[in-house]
Amino acid sequence: MSDNHLPTAELQALDAAHHMHPFTDGYELAQKGARIITKANGVWLTDSEGEEILDAMAGLWCVNIGYGREELAEVAARQMKQLPYYNTFFQTSHVPAIMLAKKLAELAPGDLNHVFFNGSGSDSNDTNLRMVRHYWALKGQPERFNVIARWNGYHGSTMGSGSLGGMRGIHAQGGLPIPGIHHIDQPDWWSEGGEMSPEDFGLQRAQELEKKILELGPETVAAFIAEPVQGAGGVIVPPETYWPEIQRIVDKYDILMIVDEVITGFGRTGNWFGCETMGITPYIMTCAKGITSGYIPLGASLVSDRIAEVINGSEFAHGYTYAGHPVACAVALENIRLLEEEGIVERAGKEIAPYLKAKWEALTDHPLVGEAKIVGLMGSIALTPDKASRAPFKAPAGSVGVICRERCFANNLVMRHVGDRMVISPPLTITKAEVDMLIERARTSLDETF
Ligand code: PLP
Repeated sequence: MSDNHLPTAELQALDAAHHMHPFTDGYELAQKGARIITKANGVWLTDSEGEEILDAMAGLWCVNIGYGREELAEVAARQMKQLPYYNTFFQTSHVPAIMLAKKLAELAPGDLNHVFFNGSGSDSNDTNLRMVRHYWALKGQPERFNVIARWNGYHGSTMGSGSLGGMRGIHAQGGLPIPGIHHIDQPDWWSEGGEMSPEDFGLQRAQELEKKILELGPETVAAFIAEPVQGAGGVIVPPETYWPEIQRIVDKYDILMIVDEVITGFGRTGNWFGCETMGITPYIMTCAKGITSGYIPLGASLVSDRIAEVINGSEFAHGYTYAGHPVACAVALENIRLLEEEGIVERAGKEIAPYLKAKWEALTDHPLVGEAKIVGLMGSIALTPDKASRAPFKAPAGSVGVICRERCFANNLVMRHVGDRMVISPPLTITKAEVDMLIERARTSLDETF
């Protein structure tokens, strides 16, 4: 494809004039002009000025297989020519959806043998919310309506998924949360653990779930939803005591556990799914992003036998026109085939993750870096003016993170900031030499931050 395009300044002016960006301060964008990405290969982006940028975020935590895999483009073109669109509503089905559902059921742990396709992570969580409430209604317990989630969790930005998420900035706009959703505190030891040991803190935060269930009445609680490792909240890796205690509590009160694997799925944590890494047994799993490595939108709710048997007994009045789109399903199948056959998930978990972990954790020798956390290929560092007290910066929260992100960008490295935490989630195909470059650029950017 030709690289010819309008000059960057002209593109930026058009962008500012006509294009409304998600999660972006439009005023700031109009002053600075967007950085315009024109192509990509492997872990490398190219911008409209021809600069090459190391993408340590795999886009938005999604390009697990890396950019530029022609196999995916070819499968998409083939499928588009054969059957560009059909749906699975009203007693029809199509081959890509059938084959992908079968493949996902094989890959997923436990008895997550059933797949309800969606279009994205957000609408998958909307599906899950309705499905668990509908399940209990069909079981004759409609009062099981409440769903418990976590502050600083992220599950999307629709009315339902944004309500499940615990991002106060999202709740502040547009009338969220919707009724029947409750939040407990997150297991972020660095910021909120005070004098407690991480282990005690993990237990205490998990036990907040039991307190909330008892406060609401166990007979009113439908489900608990969480990410195995919070991603958009800042790659918060919970203390080891956390998940076993959560599992004990949901089992005790028969609360349906929904794990949101939109980021952690498809190899991100070193195994195919984050619940395997964290030892969690879910009744529903949310998938998106890595399912197609972001090449095309697709979401999926993986559902256990217990729930599917009840939901499939009558009509679930729910579905999206583009859910299980045949082109997206074909791309997902090819993406999974390549991840499997080329051993990409295995190599990322066994070879790259330990290599990256050693280098990432060594960043704590930098004066600005407090804790460094990493699971598989998702990591975070907490920036602090005082490592001993774990104090936050006095400046408005996140402003040091913004400076660091800007320095990274200037040094041709994409790292995201979440408040004053810097996060990474590179393509699983990153090489050791590219890990070295990532760390080197991160260090330079940290040096330039303060
Ligand atoms: N759930 C989690 C854990 C996510 O990280 C995201 C997006 O980042 C979503 C859901 C929402 O997915 P989407 O942006 O595809 O709607």
